[in-house]
Amino acid sequence: MAAEIIPWRATVLTLFPEMFPGPLGASLAGKALASGLWALEARDIRDSATDRHRSVDDTPAGGGPGMVLRADVLAAAIDAADSAADRPRDRPRLLMSPRGRPLTQSWVRELAAGPGPLIVCGRFEGIDQRVIEARRLEEVSIGDYVLSGGEIAAFAVIDACVRLLPGVMGKPASGAEESFSEGLLEYPQYTRPQDFEGRTIPEILLSGDHAKIAAWRQAEAEALTRARRPDLWAARQAPSAPRQKRPKNTTEG
Ligand code: SAM
Repeated sequence: MAAEIIPWRATVLTLFPEMFPGPLGASLAGKALASGLWALEARDIRDSATDRHRSVDDTPAGGGPGMVLRADVLAAAIDAADSAADRPRDRPRLLMSPRGRPLTQSWVRELAAGPGPLIVCGRFEGIDQRVIEARRLEEVSIGDYVLSGGEIAAFAVIDACVRLLPGVMGKPASGAEESFSEGLLEYPQYTRPQDFEGRTIPEILLSGDHAKIAAWRQAEAEALTRARRPDLWAARQAPSAPRQKRPKNTTEG
């Protein structure tokens, strides 16, 4: 008998499960979700509250503004999410957090290659430190700014992963050629019309000479990266950085 194939699955713990699938229900990710290429489970943290008011937060120890998500309630929510028989024991447990490790394309590739993460969306001032430690949550930031909750950050993580899953993107080359894949930002893209308000498409892209087009794109990607992201450029120049060239056939999907 053939083994059942369990698709990549994101389990999201949130106080607002009604926000999901939200934008993940549209376009590429939405179509892939509907056709079973990945699965999404949004679970309400409040279901793990134990008092009659279904409280999930309390005032910060030591004083200060706002409220803090309780360790006992969140731990129970994580344990309940992990107790289902078909949940992989070793899936990454992420906590969306502005103080977390910045999300990168290489981390996204790692997450997309695994069974799919459990993602905790914070709210209020944050969550009790003890549950981060006790349930070994890895803090992930999507940028140096503060959102009001982790849900929008979770959308970003899931969307970035889902588009890399087999069968989701139209052309397999798309994911391999885009920004960050080789430590470079992507070259500029053009399409019809050939003349837009007096701005024309660079001649070389219309030449049909694939080697020259690939070289032009490589040079543009390098120039853009040097100008806009000196940090990426410096990392690329480091001795251990990958140096491979972009593939010749460079149609973006
Ligand atoms: N007091 C927290 C601090 O200063 O670090 C900010 C809490 S924020 C109002 C509420 C929740 O939004 C966080 O617990 C986190 O889940 C989410 N969040 C906010 N900004 C984020 C970011 N840049 N990346 C990932 N998650 C973020």
